[in-house]
Amino acid sequence: MQETIVEQMPRLAGSKHPMPNAETSTEKPKLHWVVRMNYRNRSLSWVILCLVVAVHLHQQAHAPWVWAALVLQFLVYPQVVYWRARLARDPLQAEIHNMLLDSFCFGIWSAGMGFPLWIAFVFGVGTSINLAAFEGGMGVVKALAAQVLGMAATVAFTGLHFMPDTSLSVSLLAIASISTYLVMFGLSARRRTLMLHEVRQKLRENEKALRSQLSEIQLLQAQLKEEVDRDHLTGLYNRRYLAATIDRELARCLRDGSPLSVMMIDIDHFKLINDTHGHPFGDEVLAAVAGVLNESLRAGDIACRYGGEEFLLLLPNMALETAKARADEIRLKVAALSLKADGIAFPVRISLGVAEAPRDAGDADTLVKQADAALYRAKAAGRNRVEATA
Ligand code: GH3
Ligand code: MG
Ligand code: MG
Repeated sequence: MQETIVEQMPRLAGSKHPMPNAETSTEKPKLHWVVRMNYRNRSLSWVILCLVVAVHLHQQAHAPWVWAALVLQFLVYPQVVYWRARLARDPLQAEIHNMLLDSFCFGIWSAGMGFPLWIAFVFGVGTSINLAAFEGGMGVVKALAAQVLGMAATVAFTGLHFMPDTSLSVSLLAIASISTYLVMFGLSARRRTLMLHEVRQKLRENEKALRSQLSEIQLLQAQLKEEVDRDHLTGLYNRRYLAATIDRELARCLRDGSPLSVMMIDIDHFKLINDTHGHPFGDEVLAAVAGVLNESLRAGDIACRYGGEEFLLLLPNMALETAKARADEIRLKVAALSLKADGIAFPVRISLGVAEAPRDAGDADTLVKQADAALYRAKAAGRNRVEATA
């Protein structure tokens, strides 16, 4: 037996594609990936950078506080700015400030050491690439501006020194440091690309699941509408549907100047059928009569189960005479049904009443009443016959 919509609903609700519920999600917000990436890059490539600067300073013999500043800048500073961004209300914004601060500090170191070419190059390229990735061309401008600012501040305090040469070992270390940084940057970019690809894939799958849920819902809605309008036993339209349709059909026919016939059908001595052969056989008779009605419909005709063993046909663009002839055809077809009760053929008879609008009535209620009155006359005249309005 066909499942009803209501029976199907829980299955849909428990579908294998549950909708995510943002309100019940307990997942903690993750640390911004830019903060994590920069921390990783600073922690590793700055150690090499520290080595580059240390070797360079060593070759120039500087005061002890310079060494302390070196340790603070390249080993302690990355941890401090990481925590600053981590605890910030807007970690991305804080991290962009960190990157500008990196540039400013590098400017100080560049100018303080007399602009050693390789080291200044590594400082300039490293910070520009970083900000270019997050803020585009404007980021590069900002990075360079911050670095120039750092240089200017240092020159203002210490005066301008210009010692661009670096030893071979410092130059090689500088190349190694910028190479490490660029490779790490590339690897991070690749990781992000793969993750984005995965997320896009998931989004596509979710969208597909949602689409299939939507069409499932639309299908169920259509079935639900059909179930609301239909009679379960016979599959014909029910009285609710007739009430919603008859006025519209009548108005359309009247507007077109064409007739609308109504045929009321009642099974003769149906109570006796039930009483003699049982209710299930009575149901079988109802379904068989409905089958005959269904077969004799034209496109646009509407067949309803009007009551217990009463049916009504709405026949747009059909005049009374044609409706009477059609009624008699139906009567004979029903009489020709060979239904068996307890193995013995059981004859089924029907009486029919026909009325036509606008000939017999100008409104739906009167039209149905007229057809019913004709049916009453058919019953009174001995049943198994067709009667029209007087
Ligand atoms: P008449 O020839 O004057 O129409 O007599 P009748 O026995 O057909 O009419 P009556 O109104 O006395 O009886 C109709 C019966 O139809 C009574 C009711 O039990 C039965 N009935 C109504 N709905 C159903 C149904 O869904 N299934 C079955 N098996 N019987 C039904
Ligand atoms: Mg009857
Ligand atoms: Mg009846």
